[in-house]
Amino acid sequence: MREQLKLGKDSKIAIIGGGPAGSFFAHFIHKFAQEKGIQVSTTIFDGKDFLQKGPRGCNLCAGVIAESLNLKLKNEGIHLPEKRIISRIEGYTLHVDGESLLLTSAENEKNAIATVFRGNGPRYSTFPEIISFDDFLLSWAQDSGAEVISAPVWDIKFPKDISQPLTLVFGEKDNPREFKAELIVGAFGVNAHLMNRIKDLGFGYRVPSTLSTYQAELKIGRERILENFGNTIHVYMPNKNIIRYATVIPKEDFVTVTLIGKKDATKDIFQEFLNLQDIKGKIPALKPHCSCYPKITVSPSKKPFTHRMIMIGDASFSRHYKNGIESAFLTARLAAETAIFYGVHASSIKKHYYKQAKKQIIHDNTYGRILFLVNDFISSIPLLTQSHLALAKKQNQAGPPQKIRLILWNMFTGNISYRDIFKTSLDLKLQISLLFNTLILLTRKLKNGMRGWIELQKKP
Ligand SMILES: Cc1cc2nc3c(=O)[nH]c(=O)nc-3n(C[C@H](O)[C@H](O)[C@H](O)COP(=O)(O)OP(=O)(O)OC[C@H]3O[C@@H](n4cnc5c(N)ncnc54)[C@H](O)[C@@H]3O)c2cc1C
Repeated sequence: MREQLKLGKDSKIAIIGGGPAGSFFAHFIHKFAQEKGIQVSTTIFDGKDFLQKGPRGCNLCAGVIAESLNLKLKNEGIHLPEKRIISRIEGYTLHVDGESLLLTSAENEKNAIATVFRGNGPRYSTFPEIISFDDFLLSWAQDSGAEVISAPVWDIKFPKDISQPLTLVFGEKDNPREFKAELIVGAFGVNAHLMNRIKDLGFGYRVPSTLSTYQAELKIGRERILENFGNTIHVYMPNKNIIRYATVIPKEDFVTVTLIGKKDATKDIFQEFLNLQDIKGKIPALKPHCSCYPKITVSPSKKPFTHRMIMIGDASFSRHYKNGIESAFLTARLAAETAIFYGVHASSIKKHYYKQAKKQIIHDNTYGRILFLVNDFISSIPLLTQSHLALAKKQNQAGPPQKIRLILWNMFTGNISYRDIFKTSLDLKLQISLLFNTLILLTRKLKNGMRGWIELQKKP
């Protein structure tokens, strides 16, 4: 049976979703098929038009292209044209407990981080050329050999005999059409209704858990942006009621604001953001040009595969709070490699795709979760926050200050694995320095407290 479930000459592959995962998959499947000397036909289904402005054309994301993804794209020969890049970012500014810390790309010997718009810009924006990142990738997939059908998929039907192809139902809901495929790839992300239908198919797929975030694009003008935010991404950890993390990303005349709450975001989250001490006066209380409540994955899917079917990108696994587009790249490559070289029998997919993706992404996320928990703990205790910041502010000093800056840099950029960041954070010298710093600050605080108390007693 395993032999029958190999892709061969003229096998048809249907890809549901033309976001990054779907387009990367098309790129890799044609590349690997060519390497193996077979010809496959791929069709991408997606009802979204990335040439539209606003949420209709957008896959709802902050649009930061990590340095590590940039490198992977270049190695694949995928060169993102300059006109699709909205800005080049020089680093990150962290705001915590009323203090800020600047970390720059130059210090870390890295090229600038790029930002993009996933669709063709915010609602009512006027860019002279096509800027959509997802359109670029989809066009790349077409150039690699994929056909694109601009229609949503509604259903999937399994045959009684798995040696036969699967059936995909697509098009207008009241006038659906069918498409037969030897392999179906689910690259529909986590903002899709289809995922629940696939869960109900009964092969064990459980959708990833998600959290609703809030995202807004505000047109506040380039001068104001330069003056208030420079050319760095600003990350706020305000320790407030609703917001857990807030990010402001400069993009020409716009800033993209991404808010991750402690629970699913509601409209109150944006008001809390505008009221933050660090934001007041920098961002006018404008109604955003564009806003949405996209879902971010917080835990992986279960069993994202069966015979002749693989889920990739957000619909399967994504790195914890980081570089989802890069996870789409990694899962797409693994899935394509599996399909071409090992076949589409569930046991082959389990061994060569599922287990490998778990190793590369899911196991690493365990370290990521620990790091985020530690970070939340530190930023909730002012003394600990101050001792960490004081050490990190000793710029150009080797040893513990350099280590802590590197840890923060990699946490923001996601350039290296969470496991490697975790290992660096266990450095003995670093921990001793932090303990020492904390004790000094604590002694200073106690002394000041005592002095204040004595002064108070002296008063008649
Ligand atoms: C607030 C926020 C900010 C983020 N910021 C970043 C960032 O800065 N950098 C980064 O790397 N990642 C970021 N991410 C994560 C990133 O958006 C995702 O990881 C990435 O988009 C996943 O790609 P994908 O192709 O799997 O899914 P998606 O990008 O969601 O694409 C899925 C595609 O499937 C299509 N589709 C859905 N249902 C159907 C259907 N039934 N039939 C046909 N097509 C269908 C959709 O139209 C869509 O085009 C962010 C996420 C959130 C929520």
